[in-house]
Amino acid sequence: MNLSSISEACHVIGICGGAVGGSEAAALIAKSGSIAVVFEQNMRPYGKIEDGLPRWHSKLRNKEYAKIDENLSTPGVVFVPGTRLGEDLSFSSLSNDVGLSALILAHGAWRDRPLPIEGVDRFIGNGLSYQNPFVYWFNHYEEIGFSGENFPIHDDAMVIGGGLASIDVCKILNLELYARALGDRGIKVDIEEMEVRGIPRTLETHGLAVDDLNIQGCTLFYRRDKEDMPLENVRNPSAQRLEKLKGTRAKIMDKVIRKYLVRFYPNAIPVEAVEKDGRLDGFIFQRTKIVDGRVLRIENTEFTTRSKQIISSIGSTPVPIDGVPMEGELYQWQNREEGRLVDGVYGLGNVLTGKGNIVESRRNSKEITPKVVDQALASPKIPADGVSEIMSLIRTRWDTVGYPGEYEDWIASKPPAA
Ligand SMILES: Cc1cc2nc3c(=O)[nH]c(=O)nc-3n(C[C@H](O)[C@H](O)[C@H](O)COP(=O)(O)OP(=O)(O)OC[C@H]3O[C@@H](n4cnc5c(N)ncnc54)[C@H](O)[C@@H]3O)c2cc1C
Repeated sequence: MNLSSISEACHVIGICGGAVGGSEAAALIAKSGSIAVVFEQNMRPYGKIEDGLPRWHSKLRNKEYAKIDENLSTPGVVFVPGTRLGEDLSFSSLSNDVGLSALILAHGAWRDRPLPIEGVDRFIGNGLSYQNPFVYWFNHYEEIGFSGENFPIHDDAMVIGGGLASIDVCKILNLELYARALGDRGIKVDIEEMEVRGIPRTLETHGLAVDDLNIQGCTLFYRRDKEDMPLENVRNPSAQRLEKLKGTRAKIMDKVIRKYLVRFYPNAIPVEAVEKDGRLDGFIFQRTKIVDGRVLRIENTEFTTRSKQIISSIGSTPVPIDGVPMEGELYQWQNREEGRLVDGVYGLGNVLTGKGNIVESRRNSKEITPKVVDQALASPKIPADGVSEIMSLIRTRWDTVGYPGEYEDWIASKPPAA
C-alpha cells in the first residue's frame, strides 16, 4: 500500500490485532471506503490460529491463513506488523493523541487465568506451566531456529481445566509421550497422523498394545463432571435440549479418554500447592458437588495427588494494558453488546467475548464493525494534515520493522520457520 496515495481528508480507523477478528474488521472498514490501519504485535498476523489451535488442525489453519491474508490484502487496509499496543504504541496515544476516527481492540485473550491458589505462580517454570505458552511451544518447537521456552514432557502429568483447550493440552502430552516411546523403539510416527488415528490404533499398526509401553498418561482434573464440560454449548437450551447436550458432552470426553488415553478425574478442585525441594510437586484437592449449578466444596474430602508436570488450562483473559479500564480480570466495557469500551474505542473477538472460537470471533467482528464504521462516519473526516501525521507514524513503524509496504510480499518473506 502506497502511503503517499492516502493524502486527502478521510476516516482512518485503527485496529489492534490482525487475526480472525481484526482482519475481518479491517476488510469491512476498507470496503466501506475508510482506511483501516492494523497494528499487529507479531510479524505474522495469525494469532491463535497459528499459536493456539494445535498444529494438527493443518487444513483449518491453512483455510484461516488464506482468509486472513485475503482480508489484509484488501485495498484500503494498511498492515503495521511488529507493533504492540501497550509497548510500541500506548493506549492513550492511539485512543486520543493520534487522532484516529475510531480504535478497535481485536488483540485477543492471551493472559492465562491464574490458578486461584495463593502464591502458586512462584512455581511457574518449576513444576507449573500454563496453557498458552505450552501450546505455543508445541506448535513451534520443530521449526528451525526455534528459540522459545521449552517444555519437557513427563509421564503422569496433571492438567487442571475442563474446556476444549484443556483437552488439547492433554492430547499434546499423551501424543508426545507415545511418539517418544515409539521413537525409543525405532518407530518414527507423525504426531498429526497419530492425532487422526488415535493412540491405540497407532500402536496396533506397529504390532503393539497400550500395556506394552507402560505409560500412565496425563490426568485431567475438572471441578464438575463430564456432562457439564463446556465442550458443546447452546444459548438458553430447553430442559430437553440440555439433557441431550449433557449426553453429547459426556460422549466427547469419553472419546478423548478412549482415543488419546487421557485419564479423567471429575468433581475435584486444587486448593493448596504441595512443594518438594522448591518445586511444585502436586496439589491437595478437595472433592466438589454441584448444587443449583454451583460448584461447592465438600468438607473433609481432601486428598493429595503428586506430579512432576502440572499444567493449568482454566481459561484466558485479555492482557491488561496501561490505560485500558479493567473490571476484575476483564476489560471494563461500557456497552458489551456494542463492544464499546469508551467513546471512540471498541472491542471484538476474543478480547470482548473473553473466550469463543473462530466462527464466534468472525461473527462478532461482522456484528460490531458496521456499528463502529457508522459511528466513525458520523464524525468529520480527519483533515489532510492529520492524515499525513498518521501516515508518518505508520512509516516510522514500517521502517523500524523493515516492512516493505505490500502485505503479499511481506507474508511471502515470513513463512513459518518450518
Ligand atoms: C488450544 C486452543 C484450541 C482451539 N481450538 C479451536 C478449534 O478447534 N476451533 C475453533 O473454532 N477455535 C479454536 N480455538 C479458539 C480460536 O483459535 C480463537 O477463538 C480465535 O482464533 C480468536 O481469534 P481473535 O482474532 O479473536 O483473537 P486472536 O487470534 O488472539 O488474535 C489477536 C491478535 O492480536 C495480536 N495482539 C495481541 N496483543 C496485541 C497487542 N498488545 N498489540 C497488537 N497486537 C496484539 C495477536 O498477536 C493476534 O494476532 C482454540 C484456541 C486454543 C487456545
